[in-house]
Amino acid sequence: MGTNMAPETKTTCPYCGVGCGVIARVDEDGKVSVKGDPDHPANFGRVCSKGSALAETLDLDGRLLEPEIRGKAAAWGEALDLVAERFSAAIAEHGPDSVAFYVSGQLLTEDYYVANKLMKGYIGSANIDTNSRLCMSSSVAGHRRAFGSDTVPGCYEDLELADLVILTGSNLAWCHPVIYQRLAAAKAARPGLKVVVIDPRRTMTADIADLHLAIRPDGDIALFNGLLAHLAKTSAIDENYLAAHTNGFSEAFAVASAMRFPELMERTGLGAREIRQFFSLFERTEKVVTCYSQGVNQSSSGTDKVNAIINCHLATGRIGRQGMGPFSLTGQPNAMGGREVGGLSNMLAAHMSIEDPADRDRLQRFWQSPEMADRAGLKAVDMFRAVADGRIRALWIMATNPVVSMPDADAVEAAIAACPFVVVSDVLKLTDTTRHAHVLLPSLGWGEKDGTVTNSERRISRQRPFLTAPGEARADWWQLCEVARRMGFDGFDHASPSEIFAEHAALSAFENGGSRDFDIGAYVGLGDPAYQVMKPFQWPQPKGDDGRVTRFFARGGYYHPDGRARFIAVQAPETDRTTAEFPFTLNTGRIRDQWHTMTRTGKSARLSAHIAEPFAELHPRDAQMIGVGGADLIEIESPRGKAVLRALISERQTRDSIFAPMHWNDQFSARARIDAVVPPLTDPVSGQPASKNVAVSARPFAAA
Ligand code: SF4
Repeated sequence: MGTNMAPETKTTCPYCGVGCGVIARVDEDGKVSVKGDPDHPANFGRVCSKGSALAETLDLDGRLLEPEIRGKAAAWGEALDLVAERFSAAIAEHGPDSVAFYVSGQLLTEDYYVANKLMKGYIGSANIDTNSRLCMSSSVAGHRRAFGSDTVPGCYEDLELADLVILTGSNLAWCHPVIYQRLAAAKAARPGLKVVVIDPRRTMTADIADLHLAIRPDGDIALFNGLLAHLAKTSAIDENYLAAHTNGFSEAFAVASAMRFPELMERTGLGAREIRQFFSLFERTEKVVTCYSQGVNQSSSGTDKVNAIINCHLATGRIGRQGMGPFSLTGQPNAMGGREVGGLSNMLAAHMSIEDPADRDRLQRFWQSPEMADRAGLKAVDMFRAVADGRIRALWIMATNPVVSMPDADAVEAAIAACPFVVVSDVLKLTDTTRHAHVLLPSLGWGEKDGTVTNSERRISRQRPFLTAPGEARADWWQLCEVARRMGFDGFDHASPSEIFAEHAALSAFENGGSRDFDIGAYVGLGDPAYQVMKPFQWPQPKGDDGRVTRFFARGGYYHPDGRARFIAVQAPETDRTTAEFPFTLNTGRIRDQWHTMTRTGKSARLSAHIAEPFAELHPRDAQMIGVGGADLIEIESPRGKAVLRALISERQTRDSIFAPMHWNDQFSARARIDAVVPPLTDPVSGQPASKNVAVSARPFAAA
């Protein structure tokens, strides 16, 4: 680990979508310490356990320090030549759709921008998808259906200003800990602030709840449809807002009100009293924020769930004003930045639509590029299917570990292993994914990278370097530009992240952003000195009539052509997937002190002390029924695969269900990957995999 000269550097935590500002200090001995940045508007100095342990994860053990070709060290030029040659050959022989990039919400916006530009504007395919598909694509799809654009109307301060905060499918205490800290502090200061937690498991978040609804997995649509019908029946609808700014209420209400109360109880698994208590709280409270995260998004009906929630806020006009609105919380540090630059295979940069010929034309004219993707590319699950059946001949994976994190992980591993040409850009030499790479490219890690990220409330912050790059590690955007140039493309002469950011800003403002108010305005033409000192700012920033920054949608202004939001009529699905053979419902998720596949947090002994092993949490009576004692090994099985985990017996878990974290990999112990058990079932609109509500069997593990 080398260091630069600055004693203190303001940067952004690289883990979750809260996007906390941190200050990294390097002392004279090169020792790094990290603390919260009191001036950053996301966290005001707070950090969580992961953020406070950042300095413990910066050693070079296991780092990939030079390019490798088939396991042998290679010069950068040789490796880049080979990547360009193999991608060009695949395109020449099999067409542009025979190659793909699988990227990550860990990439900085500048990396993401260049990757999208290369694939969509120059190679001419939209086969670039991201692990953010696994995290928030149902929210993107739900926003686009309701608002006409992927616009997140919420801000963190709304949770502090609300009188009722609903957390559905969100273990905020562990997955967005600093927002949880802000909410808990607000509730302590103002006991009138009520919190409702909707989650099948009694998580740590539920400890501050005034009401915990232990809903059946995928019961959310039934619950929010029931709420919509209740609001209409109790005259809690804002008729003026409805008439002025929305379409489609009648259809949504007709579907929602068709469900009788006994069926609502059956589908949600909730009692009449608690359902009525929840409905009454929402009905009576003007300032309501509904936060949702992976428990909503990671579902085969995730997009419909998002719209069922948004429907209730549109119906009451509780959107776009302080302390109210639907609010999707992104999982990753730069899931939102990726969305801004078209980081999903069905989107274009600057929130333009790949389905819209005028948007495609505008983007191509801006880039002056030779080829433009003319249709959506493959979404993550379909992309790896295409790798498996030979349609993808060359694959470049950046900053992610799909062999652990993708559903149907064994099949994904087999597909990558059989792919004719695989490039992996990573900071680590050995992950479950890098071992299948033909070419390994060493990337910069946190503390070395330079660029921007965007958090859940659309706040852009700088990630700044405070360590010198180790070995021959180089930025991901640089790797992409070098390959693009070798493939014969102009337009990749970027010399710095500030240049790329300036181009991103100019694109957002190009031709008035396609008449959207998405332009970065003052940041167009930003030079490097200003970029270096850029302070965190929210983007976009809509302006009211008085020219002051305001919120989205208080007075309509939606992005459908008629300026109105859409109610979406959504049917509550059948949700019980269990069978006699697979009688338990598995939900996967995160734990407090680990991040994704543990390639960084796993380095900290302090973080690993929280929960040291992969586990399966189940109810005491279920454990007794299958003959599992505390700390026994338990085998979880679905038709797709098996995992062997430590039993954690807890009354926080509801009967007939199991929770298992997604972090551990097979390098920890054989069959530790829970995603080998999760089938490749996806939401039909968003393509987001259903990592919840998986039918499994469970039994004591008997070693062979
Ligand atoms: Fe980092 Fe998220 Fe913790 Fe903030 S809440 S310190 S962004 S992991």
